[in-house]
Amino acid sequence: MHADESRESGQSSVRNALRRAVGAPTWHHAPVSAPTHGPAAVSYWLREPGPPADPPLAPGDDREVDIAIVGAGFTGLWTAIALTDTDPSLRVAVLEAETVAFGASGRNGGFCEASLTHGLANGIKHFPDELPVLEREGIENLQNLIDFTRAHGIDCDLEETGTLALADQPYQVEEFRAWVDEAAEHGEHLEFLDADAARAEVHSPLWHAGLYRPPGRDILVDPAKLCRGLARVARERGVRVHEHTRVTQLERRAGGVTVTAVAGATIRAAQVVVATSAYSGWLRRLGPLFVPVYDYALVSQPLTPAQRASIGWARRQGLADANNQFHYFRLTADDRILWGGYDAIHHFGSRVAPELDQRPQTFERLEAQFFRAFPQLDGLTFPYRWGGAIDTTSRFTVTFGRTMGGRVTYALGYTGLGVGASRWAAGVVRDFLLRPDEDRLRLRIVNSPPIPFPPEPLRSLTVETVRHELDRADRNEGRRGMLLRTLDALGIGFDS
Ligand SMILES: Cc1cc2nc3c(=O)[nH]c(=O)nc-3n(C[C@H](O)[C@H](O)[C@H](O)COP(=O)(O)OP(=O)(O)OC[C@H]3O[C@@H](n4cnc5c(N)ncnc54)[C@H](O)[C@@H]3O)c2cc1C
Repeated sequence: MHADESRESGQSSVRNALRRAVGAPTWHHAPVSAPTHGPAAVSYWLREPGPPADPPLAPGDDREVDIAIVGAGFTGLWTAIALTDTDPSLRVAVLEAETVAFGASGRNGGFCEASLTHGLANGIKHFPDELPVLEREGIENLQNLIDFTRAHGIDCDLEETGTLALADQPYQVEEFRAWVDEAAEHGEHLEFLDADAARAEVHSPLWHAGLYRPPGRDILVDPAKLCRGLARVARERGVRVHEHTRVTQLERRAGGVTVTAVAGATIRAAQVVVATSAYSGWLRRLGPLFVPVYDYALVSQPLTPAQRASIGWARRQGLADANNQFHYFRLTADDRILWGGYDAIHHFGSRVAPELDQRPQTFERLEAQFFRAFPQLDGLTFPYRWGGAIDTTSRFTVTFGRTMGGRVTYALGYTGLGVGASRWAAGVVRDFLLRPDEDRLRLRIVNSPPIPFPPEPLRSLTVETVRHELDRADRNEGRRGMLLRTLDALGIGFDS
């Protein structure tokens, strides 16, 4: 193998595994279990309705606020909290098309990481000069997030378990070993586990090695409980959270922006924050910045004591394997297994629509891959299965911008690692609006945009070709072909 090739493939497999995230396609043909919980829930986390928020805006309503925030996911709600932390007198309204946490924030794996750069390896690649600052801010951000949930009584099943990356291909073992030293140079402590040790932690015949990252850089949460808790705290501070209020238009006017919501309601705001993530197609200028990529997950029935004992996993770490097309998996508070990842689907025209949340062929593939990893759980069923759109940028990190003469600020593009980073991004948005002298507004991650995606039909062609090449690399001991190496050199990627 060419030396550069080896290094690049090593970096990417470790990068994937340490973010969250196997599966050479030798499927075990278990029957796909039928959902048993009645009408499809948006996700396992959203199986119960949340507490009511403020009434939707009605036709003819005309309100005035200081700051209107579009989208009630983590980005929108953390922004409302950051703004009211700094200036409690602000009149802030959050406008949400559906319900709190309806988007990615209520559908994700609940892996909440310190990294602001989509993992250390991606940070080394894109922001080597800023990495010490970003690592420090990321760790502080995670600790502040934990402290905030405790201070405000947000019960979100938070667990500090550490994470375990798993090699399911022999070539990944040496890459894991090498990464321990490289990560240490950047202050990240990892412990290498050989095959026996990895299998002793979590009982599966697939593992060839593991990399354990002790608690301190990540937590597991129930993301919907966290998001709903943020909505509660925001409302206690006087922030209005209007669900079922879809914004259709922003229009510049003297002294601010007129926000038009469906059915003709308007809000006049001095400033607007757009926090609509992979659903941001409604604002045309954001289109080139991201591609919405569908990621899917399953949640099993609760394990019986015998099933639970059969898999080890005593330390309940968040787990991921190390391929480009990776799986992430974890235990829920009631000892179900959440198993997600692998497929990353982009639809022509970057379409996002409710009917794309269900994808039977992906669910079938995920189940088959699950039983390859855990054959002892044969017969386990997966009553919850869903998908959600991830806001992928070409460098996998959140991007910020301002438009309409500085009256509209946006933050999106976490590329599958936004549970923790969204809190940091909300602080950056607050700084743009209220503390323009803050040093972090000068960071390149904040003020330089990623390379844009091309328009259709080139967009879909590019995404599909890259996906195909990533799959090929996974089947070819991680070796990246010419196309991927060229894109790597240009700093462009596609991931979820
Ligand atoms: C299946 C899946 C698994 C993931 N796993 C992880 C993980 O384990 N760890 C991790 O860190 N990240 C993960 N992510 C990514 C993470 O969930 C996101 O980065 C994060 O939730 C983004 O939050 P957000 O508030 O920016 O966006 P969202 O939560 O998507 O919120 C956007 C909101 O805007 C609303 N909206 C859209 N358009 C309008 C409009 N016109 N008017 C009003 N409201 C509108 C939507 O209804 C939505 O509620 C995952 C994502 C998915 C989909």
